[in-house]
Amino acid sequence: MPELPEAEITKRKLEPLLKGKRILLVRRSLGKGGNLWKKISGVERRGKAILIWLEPKLGVEASYLLAFHMRMSGKLLMVNRNHHDKYIRRRFQLSDGKDLAFHDVRRFGVVWYGKAKKVLQDNYFKTLGEDALAISLEGLKKLLNAKSITPLIPLTLRGTKIKSFLLNQKNIAGIGNICADEILWKAKIHPERKISDLNDNEIKTLWSSLRAVLLLSIKLGGSSMRDWFHPDGDSGGYFEKRAVYGRAGKKCFSCKSLINKSKVAGRGTYFCKVCQKK
Ligand SMILES: [Zn+2]
Repeated sequence: MPELPEAEITKRKLEPLLKGKRILLVRRSLGKGGNLWKKISGVERRGKAILIWLEPKLGVEASYLLAFHMRMSGKLLMVNRNHHDKYIRRRFQLSDGKDLAFHDVRRFGVVWYGKAKKVLQDNYFKTLGEDALAISLEGLKKLLNAKSITPLIPLTLRGTKIKSFLLNQKNIAGIGNICADEILWKAKIHPERKISDLNDNEIKTLWSSLRAVLLLSIKLGGSSMRDWFHPDGDSGGYFEKRAVYGRAGKKCFSCKSLINKSKVAGRGTYFCKVCQKK
């Protein structure tokens, strides 16, 4: 469930804790491990993935990468060396005496390790669209607008529902189910609207809503829904401030009618049918 805001918080909190330290060993649990002995040169976020760059960073050729995708339930935690938890899938022994742990209850998470060039050849990275926090209004218009001179979305995909479009990491990177519903509610756009039907004003509102939702969530520390929390054990406060996600049958903050739930793009989707007209 972690999305862009949660990955961004993880990146921001991990970087000062990891940069300059060495990863000495990799272990599956508390058993024996394999030597790594590589110095961490930086931490980066791409979409919902966390990339830990390992020295030497003399151009992409020479660097190694350790990367994680959290999928449903993954998180990265700083733990004491003797701390044990059955949901820790990998632990990385650091030169400062702590362990970086990849904790994943549902086991859908992905861990990559290898030469950077090779890791970045993985389909996830190769096909990743522009980052949701980096995309400009013009960039979004080009992706969505059928009348644009250089449309980036093929004609066959113009009938795509806006919610499916937002969830597809090949279009824009970082948005997941919670953020998509919140963005569309804020923009007053029905999740089933076709992307080719959105006018310039709606695209503009969509873009500003997208930024507002992501930036607010980051500011509040992300969504600590179910069991996600920060690498240092803090939890985020965005989930309590959300407008629609998981609020079926409760009052819309804008018009006071009841929030609906249906399935769009195969995902449970929350919206207000009064504020978000089809
Ligand atoms: Zn409403």
